[in-house]
Amino acid sequence: MPRAFITGITGQDGQHLAEFLHAKGYEVFGLVKGQNNPRMVQMRDEFPYVEPVPGDLADLPSLVKALEFAQPDEVYNLGAISFVAVSFNQAELTANITGLGVLRMLEAIRMVGGAKNNPIRLYQASSSEMFGKVRETPQTELTPFHPRSPYGCAKVFGHDIVVNYRESYDLFACSGILFNHEGPRRGLEFVTRKVTNSVARIKLGLQQEIVLGNLDSKRDWGYAGDYVKAMWLMLQQDQPDDYVVATGQTNSIEDLVALAFAEVGIENWRDYVRQDPKFFRPAEVDLLIGDSSKARIQLGWKPEVDFASLIKMMVAHDLRFEGDKIR
Ligand code: NAP
Repeated sequence: MPRAFITGITGQDGQHLAEFLHAKGYEVFGLVKGQNNPRMVQMRDEFPYVEPVPGDLADLPSLVKALEFAQPDEVYNLGAISFVAVSFNQAELTANITGLGVLRMLEAIRMVGGAKNNPIRLYQASSSEMFGKVRETPQTELTPFHPRSPYGCAKVFGHDIVVNYRESYDLFACSGILFNHEGPRRGLEFVTRKVTNSVARIKLGLQQEIVLGNLDSKRDWGYAGDYVKAMWLMLQQDQPDDYVVATGQTNSIEDLVALAFAEVGIENWRDYVRQDPKFFRPAEVDLLIGDSSKARIQLGWKPEVDFASLIKMMVAHDLRFEGDKIR
């Protein structure tokens, strides 16, 4: 039975990946931080097959102990301070966890190593936010980085240190440069889920309006369930490499809002939306749109769920989620 160790197990991607790897017959271990993590209860209920392992990306000895315990074949480093807005407020914490956390994981892997003929393979969760003020469109694995937030800067460090350790120490370490991916498990702080959840609440009479930032921002949005498959595929190749994972399609926040409201039969959505400059980013990224040709050709990966189906799925989930609370 192959063994996988996931950091960020309580996050959106960690949950999708745990489900995916379990279905493939993996034994799944997940790093859980904090002495009383509130998300542990949900994890035990929904993913009883995941073995929780205590530890923190800020604490190298805890990562070494976690790897010694889990003895994984594959490590998926998804743990991060992942919300761009938080990274502007807590830049040092973001640099420590999202950036230096990657270095600590690489060091832990070097120390624990794994079986001689089967060294530990690492997947690192890089991000399209590294492209920021984009140098070319669409972005590929060769597009230079120009991050526009402390989050993006920390991810660039994480990305570069993975490349450096791969080249210096011959580690099997890959980075997936993933463009935005969403789903019903997305945190409520992220704009897609904020919109679909608020639309469900407005439909159910629980909320009057949604307050948003820049409606013109555009993103390349895919479905998280599709993207975790690309992570796994990267670690099944003969050679480690980096890949852009994206749909190649772009939509604006306004498109997202209009689609979500249409799902609940509300056409005059502008009556329910207010803009507030406090939700604008201090520095906005340009048009992020990914060219995932390399992943499509070399990994045989492609996205299955399109944007409209994704928003439909999220609104349907949030209608059930919010409806259950008032029944
Ligand atoms: P998420 O839902 O925000 O999950 C983040 C995870 O990191 C949570 O499980 C969190 O644990 C954990 N974490 C935070 N601080 C930690 C620490 N000090 N030690 C250990 N774990 C810690 O993020 P996601 O959407 O699943 O994304 C997964 C990864 O992909 C992240 O690295 C993200 O930056 C990257 N990424 C995401 C996207 C996207 O569109 N979703 C795109 C590109 C890259 P708690 O629950 O205990 O706080």
